[in-house]
Amino acid sequence: MKDISCKLLVIGAGPGGYVCAIRAGQLGVDTVIVEAVKPGGTCLNVGCIPSKAMIHVADEYHAVTEAAAGRSKFGISATTPAIDLAKAVGWKDGIVGRLTSGVSGLLKKAGVKSVQGWATFRDGKTVEVETETGLQVIRAEAIVIATGSAPVELPFLPFGGAVISSTEALALKQAPKTLAVVGGGYIGLELGTAFAKLGAKVTVVEAEARILPQYDADLTKPVAKRLAALGVKVMTGAKAKGLSPKGDVLMVHTADGEDVKVEAEKILVTVGRKPAVEGWGLEQIDLDRVRAFLRVDEQCRTSMRGVYAIGDVTGEPMLAHRAMAQGEMVAEIVAGHRRAWDKRCIPAICFTDPEIVTAGLSPDEARQQGFETKVGQFPLAANGRAMTLSAEDGFVRVVARADNHLVLGIQAVGKGVSELSAAFGLAIEMGARLEDVAGTIHAHPTLGESFQEAALKTLGHALHI
Ligand code: FAD
Ligand code: NAD
Repeated sequence: MKDISCKLLVIGAGPGGYVCAIRAGQLGVDTVIVEAVKPGGTCLNVGCIPSKAMIHVADEYHAVTEAAAGRSKFGISATTPAIDLAKAVGWKDGIVGRLTSGVSGLLKKAGVKSVQGWATFRDGKTVEVETETGLQVIRAEAIVIATGSAPVELPFLPFGGAVISSTEALALKQAPKTLAVVGGGYIGLELGTAFAKLGAKVTVVEAEARILPQYDADLTKPVAKRLAALGVKVMTGAKAKGLSPKGDVLMVHTADGEDVKVEAEKILVTVGRKPAVEGWGLEQIDLDRVRAFLRVDEQCRTSMRGVYAIGDVTGEPMLAHRAMAQGEMVAEIVAGHRRAWDKRCIPAICFTDPEIVTAGLSPDEARQQGFETKVGQFPLAANGRAMTLSAEDGFVRVVARADNHLVLGIQAVGKGVSELSAAFGLAIEMGARLEDVAGTIHAHPTLGESFQEAALKTLGHALHI
């Protein structure tokens, strides 16, 4: 097979890698991308998109089961609801297929050459790819490592059989009757809530003192309340120990020091993700690390000249939109533009019920960074649109500098608030002050009005509370 020489080689076609390759192609950079599995990476194939599709399915089904149980406050009734989960998974797979073939098309349109196979470094400028038709050698002036991440496995609960990761959970053709979720973080709570709505009896085992420990307690309280209402048992300060000899019971050491048994047809382990740094010849190029992650600077340069790294392999926050932003930046750097990481915030959303959104600094983080702050919070219970959606639990909170009212952070919890993340991110990125948000006409009736009201409240003159 003839060797390929190019200006830019991207390894991994997840959101980091494929965005990098598309942007480089648009800029006329001679670019090759290598992907071992399917374009789209974790995000499109087994992550963001599939999980949000199944969360939507669960919400739809739950609304019907509530009506059938006579609990609809809208007067809706239904009889004998049923779900064909295999059909729902088929619908989800259809979305994945459309998106992944869309990515292939976009790469082609940008003039990027795609090579399918597993890439291994020979040296800092040369990579070998095991393709179906033989070994392909690729030489490049610049290489971007965008190999992503993989689920962390617990040694006493190895994946296999009843013990599953998010990947298997998103492909189940039937909801388990009982589900134990080990790890009450992003994935555990997003999928745990969905399975509870699909009829599973769910128990969450979280090692820390509360669920979603990365968010402040005010934001997670409505989520904990809703989990309880859905019948999800949450065990905090608890540690999973392993399976019973028969394999149908999870042994858990509780916060009270007791050993208890949790019945579980499936055990979903979601205790974090680790960078994909094995099997592609890292030892050949010996890059600096921060713990297991690849160390990068503000231009995503690794410790080896001409070798960049982006996305989950470079550490927290492991979010698709961060990977994409890094990918776009590196493509422009390789094309000769002057770029460096200058983002003011990376918004984060947890698609639980209700949803949580954060952008910028929390009140505590702002104080810890030495800012004197003003904080205002507006409850969704006072928002007309939230009432019409029967979604009154939650709030929008704004954190601003006390001296010049510069918005430092915005947080929200509530049904449907994920869509407010764009407004939050834009306000922080553009350096908005409280007066800018308060003085912007927000269309009525929308949840977005709560953002304006939270800014007004911080200024001391909210109108609707
Ligand atoms: P990845 O998407 O992991 O892609 C890496 C690619 O590299 C893979 O396709 C892999 O096959 C390929 N590869 C690796 N090594 C090689 C090699 N040697 N040769 C060739 N190819 C290779 N993030 C959000 O922002 N929002 C969400 O709602 C969200 N939900 C999620 C839900 C779940 C269940 C999971 C698991 C993750 C979720 N994430 C979410 C996280 C998100 O998926 C990741 O942050 C994102 O995919 C990281 O992108 P990446 O390009 O760094 O790597
Ligand atoms: P996570 O870091 O969100 O949560 C892991 C949880 O497991 C933590 O609360 C931790 O305290 C707990 N834990 C760790 N070890 C434990 C043990 N032995 N027993 C019990 N609990 C234990 O990790 P995740 O849910 O696996 O998700 C991985 C990453 O994927 C996230 O950090 C995030 O970056 C990304 N993700 C993002 C989204 C989103 O943006 N909506 C959704 C899913 C995943």
